[in-house]
Amino acid sequence: MKKHRANKAAIIGGGVIGGGWAARFLLNGWDVHVYDPDPDAERKVNEVLANARWALPMLYDRALPKEGRLVFAQTLEDAVLDANWVQESVPEKLELKREIIRLVQAHEAGIVIVSSSTSGFKPTDLQQGASNPEMIIVSHPFNPVYLLPLVEVVAGEATHPTVIEDACETLTAIGMFPLVVRREIDAHIADRFLEAVWREALWLIKDGIATTEEIDNAIRYGFGLRWAQMGLFETYRIAGGEGGMAHFIQQFGPALKWPWTKLMDVPELTDELVQQVGDQSDAQSGHLTIRELERLRDTNLIAMMRALKDRGSAAGKLIADHERAFQEPDASEVPFVTIRRTVPVDWTDYNGHMNESRYGQMFSDAADAVMVAVGADPDYIASGLSYFTVETSVKYVLETHAGEDVRVETRILLGEGKKLKLLHDMRRATDGELLATCDQFLLHVSLETRKTCEPRADVANRLRELTARHADARAEQERTIQ
Ligand code: NAD
Repeated sequence: MKKHRANKAAIIGGGVIGGGWAARFLLNGWDVHVYDPDPDAERKVNEVLANARWALPMLYDRALPKEGRLVFAQTLEDAVLDANWVQESVPEKLELKREIIRLVQAHEAGIVIVSSSTSGFKPTDLQQGASNPEMIIVSHPFNPVYLLPLVEVVAGEATHPTVIEDACETLTAIGMFPLVVRREIDAHIADRFLEAVWREALWLIKDGIATTEEIDNAIRYGFGLRWAQMGLFETYRIAGGEGGMAHFIQQFGPALKWPWTKLMDVPELTDELVQQVGDQSDAQSGHLTIRELERLRDTNLIAMMRALKDRGSAAGKLIADHERAFQEPDASEVPFVTIRRTVPVDWTDYNGHMNESRYGQMFSDAADAVMVAVGADPDYIASGLSYFTVETSVKYVLETHAGEDVRVETRILLGEGKKLKLLHDMRRATDGELLATCDQFLLHVSLETRKTCEPRADVANRLRELTARHADARAEQERTIQ
């Protein structure tokens, strides 16, 4: 495969899904070239991007990589030139998709992965008549593409085996969870599943058993919460008690044959049913605009995924793994920037600004970065030695809000023997404005005796060096001011 200097994604079709892909690639540092002949496409992509710029950085506890460059290409040829990923997201029409793929491969001579967002078509259908079918796959994402990690990756009959591997590597690098579908089927895995649920919901409305709101309540107050963290089978395994899955199937399996379900039939989508669903949905959610609903959805998704991150579970584990690739604090920097991050929604309180306890967390994370920089890292702690904070004094200077990028600059005031004294300045990243300061005093301890003790020689030496460097920088700064 051709190697390129910068990662470049070409997004063909800049609607709901293309816009989401553009945001996902851009915010993970890729250059993105969008081609969409609709004169409104630029506005629409920028709207999705604005949502994504607000939401995605909040998932992480470190700053995302530097954003890539966004270009709206005048032609498909310009968009795909030198791209190392092409994502087709045009409307769900087989002939249109085949034509787009034909044009892409005519310009890029089949050396780049051409990935389709199709919800329904099989990759083998898309490969018909293509000049380089071996490079064609399906990567089916979920809305909002910039936040939801799942992407179903499907190979067609002609797809080259290494293409799927390469695709998974790229998708993982932009924070997604590639689920490779073993055998291509119409609608892949998730949409087939969701269609079954949707069909049944339409029956419940048509038969006058439940409204749109009641159906949503049945999901969001109950099994929807279970699904988000364990899915279906792990949940049912627990429901089977000590007998596990086999017992669960023995107990509830026969019920599948009872006439509860209408899953095999589709209700006739008469004008009357469409009107009924539309009216109920208006009554349920008509007081909110689509933009407001999107904001609500994104805020809740962030809070839920961040809670899962704390637990190292499901989508949260993926976010924690992805974050490890982001820039770590660099102790050779002066000032030493121990934290670069965005303030997430779950850190703000009823006053609309960052909660007091989160300042504590921010400065405690900053102290952890100093510890890692001097070698008092997780291995050192596992060996039974660490630092405990014995005193902190925080001054709150300006309000800090969700979505703001902040940094913490840390100076070591004292790093001698058991004693470690730090001064942290928390600043707004956009204008350097001071938001808070923290004086922190830590003592080195043995985790066995829980009493103070001298640090290991290598840690003591590195701490002394870093303290001296910070003192020199301070002296230099004072000289400059005089
Ligand atoms: P959309 O209608 O919002 O966007 C399609 C875009 O393609 C439009 O902006 C349109 O101007 C553009 N377009 C049309 N012809 C084009 C051409 N010749 N060249 C370049 N651009 C062209 O549709 P969408 O919801 O974003 O869906 C796009 C694809 O993603 C479909 O295949 C769909 O099945 C799939 N998908 C949709 C969802 C979803 O929830 N909407 C989820 C996953 C996958």
